[in-house]
Amino acid sequence: MPSAPPRPRHFASDNNAGIIPEVWQALAEANAGGHAPGYGSDEWTAAAQAEMRRVFEREEAFAFFVFNGTAANSLALASLCDSLHGAVCHRHSHIITDECNAPGFFRPGLSLLPADTPLGKLTPAAVREVVAGLRPVHAPEARALSLTQCTELGTIYSLDELAALTATARELRLRVHMDGARFANAVAALGAAPADLTWRAGIDVLSFGGTKGGMPLGEAVVFFREELADNFIRRMKQAGQLASKMRFLSAPWLGFLRDDAWLRHASHANAMAARLEAAIQGLPRVQIAHPRESNAVFAHLSRPAVEALWAGGWRFYDDVGPGGAARLMCAWDTQPDDVDGFAADLARALGK
Ligand SMILES: *Cc1c(COP(=O)(O)O)cnc(C)c1O
Repeated sequence: MPSAPPRPRHFASDNNAGIIPEVWQALAEANAGGHAPGYGSDEWTAAAQAEMRRVFEREEAFAFFVFNGTAANSLALASLCDSLHGAVCHRHSHIITDECNAPGFFRPGLSLLPADTPLGKLTPAAVREVVAGLRPVHAPEARALSLTQCTELGTIYSLDELAALTATARELRLRVHMDGARFANAVAALGAAPADLTWRAGIDVLSFGGTKGGMPLGEAVVFFREELADNFIRRMKQAGQLASKMRFLSAPWLGFLRDDAWLRHASHANAMAARLEAAIQGLPRVQIAHPRESNAVFAHLSRPAVEALWAGGWRFYDDVGPGGAARLMCAWDTQPDDVDGFAADLARALGK
């Protein structure tokens, strides 16, 4: 790793960025509110749940606020599946590669059933193939489909692709979970209503990411069908995910969602990634690995260039997804100067 001092901003992850001002403000308001009941029986949590119903245009939407995405995903899947079941997901999905078996920990017995398709995106045919490959009685029964939006490779499912996948899921009797750690970036990129990208498209439960979009921490599990949320609060308690000072986990959502702050900041991050792609795609021996659709640019760079950039203090990963591409992740606070400085350093490293 680099010996140079770290830069204030770089491209390692959107979770390396700080807190958006709107969320900071909402936290301050909650803190000025004096004493409040614990465990979610407070006015901030009620208000954040109402905001979720507004944003998703659905009275039956019910949101729970947990600390992180691993818990959101695992507890959501635990609600959809029992110990006989399997969840179909992508080979590069976070639940497979980055959650240390948490889905099977919170729902013992649950298996994850991976499909390997291009660009991090599942297809109806791939889902069918996985399910068809399960021997009756002997194999787990497929019960859930888990989609990631934006995907781990920075790509985005279109509305049509979502509709085709959820139609297949219905046919195969799979309930549908969406890992939306970067849901904000997808909504901002597609310009679609959050409802159209979720329940109207057949999604049953969403892990709605707050952390990477500019909250200090926190993700929401949003159920679009009330019966699936049965006893979820006990699941949270058992998992150590029921915050006693819940208002500081829920109030940030007010700042995040109010006046579309989440979409403004996500659009900015997406725009910075577009700028970065434009700045580096013409450089010699630079190859964009997957279509740039959200706030990530995946690019194949030469090894010496990667080493030179790291030595110069730039941070980014080269081990996310297949093929060893550099993942350059933009955040809400990425500035044009950061992008241009990186592109200039990369050009220098490539000897241009
Ligand atoms: C970041 C991320 C999560 C959440 O991870 P935690 O570290 O558990 O908060 C979930 N899914 C995807 C695709 C992510 O990128």
